[in-house]
Amino acid sequence: MNRTLPIASDRGVSRRAFLKFCALTASLLALPPGAAAILADSLARARRLPVVWLSFQECTGCTESLTRSSAPSIERLLFELISLDYSHPLQAAAGAAAEQAREASLAANHGRLLLVVDGSVPTALGGACSTIAGEDNLSLLARCLDAAEAVLAVGTCAAFGGLPAAAPNPTGAMGIAELMAQGLVPRRPLVNLPGCPPIPEAMSAVLAHRVAFGRFPELDAQGRPLAFYGETVHDRCSRRGHYEAGRFAKTFDDAGARAGWCLLELGCKGPTTRNACSTLRWNGVSNPVESGHPCLGCSEAGFWDRGSFYAPLAAPAAAAAEPQARRGAAVYDRNCASCHGSAPGGLATPADEVPALLRSGKVRAHRFSLKDGDMQALLDHLKEAR
Ligand code: SF4
Ligand code: SF4
Repeated sequence: MNRTLPIASDRGVSRRAFLKFCALTASLLALPPGAAAILADSLARARRLPVVWLSFQECTGCTESLTRSSAPSIERLLFELISLDYSHPLQAAAGAAAEQAREASLAANHGRLLLVVDGSVPTALGGACSTIAGEDNLSLLARCLDAAEAVLAVGTCAAFGGLPAAAPNPTGAMGIAELMAQGLVPRRPLVNLPGCPPIPEAMSAVLAHRVAFGRFPELDAQGRPLAFYGETVHDRCSRRGHYEAGRFAKTFDDAGARAGWCLLELGCKGPTTRNACSTLRWNGVSNPVESGHPCLGCSEAGFWDRGSFYAPLAAPAAAAAEPQARRGAAVYDRNCASCHGSAPGGLATPADEVPALLRSGKVRAHRFSLKDGDMQALLDHLKEAR
């Protein structure tokens, strides 16, 4: 199998561009000082990672986002880091040749393949809602997961079901975590990169981390990389000063909007949305909030079903959702993650039954005490994670 740097050089990527990519990636991942050199060294010696990319019920926006990365060399370097053996939108092969390439990769890389998925998976009507080469999506996903070492769920549809899962969800669409939790597909380590679409640098940085260090970066309780989903859009928003000062635009064309005031009253979901838009910016230029539109909350589970995009968050929700969500995640991480894993979506017990189970004291490992309010925060967190 080919090494990364010689291939990059062969295809016209200079060492300078390669080192620049490594420095940027180390910075995005908030790695400690000196990590850029270690990353560059590891990547230069790393073997290319075999990747099969499956696209199910999706709009191709996630792939489009990746290929429109603003840093000029990122997507090119990305394709030097991985061996992209199958991808509908990006591969040259079509028809039977494409399917043969996928099957050959599954056979040759069994147990060490990285599976990337965008789009949700339909489970209704016997899988008839979406098929690829005559095979329903659920069956294809299960077969590919069987050969995979881990899976990257790219975009809100793959992570949480997204638009196809919006009520009334006619196709029975589900994200990967839910399919695993329900035992419909084999379980594998899962990284969620939600967003509609996700930020391209988040995708490339996570892949680079996996190739260089053989593992994924640190994840939160929902399987999202903390480096990109550890803060809300609101935390680093360029309009935050106006929020603190109580200066809110009332319409999209009033003097406040033109002066860059906070968009909370125009429906901004930044306070309850974890994503790196405020720090990374799209195409390195701007982000939706900075350019005048409220955050829609596109990287959160169920965002299509949370009412109008332009309805303001309820005041208590705006003020309390963030600390409550963090509190629930912290309770889970402290008490549950060591046995049940970092993503609570895989718990066998339905969320509503967890408080009774904990209070019953039936399971020795569950006999821990919770402060007032922690149980509700944990319950809210478990419900949101599912
Ligand atoms: S509410 Fe929205 S516009 Fe206002 S500071 Fe927060 S993220 Fe920015
Ligand atoms: S600002 Fe909000 S809606 Fe827009 S891309 Fe970022 S998380 Fe999604």
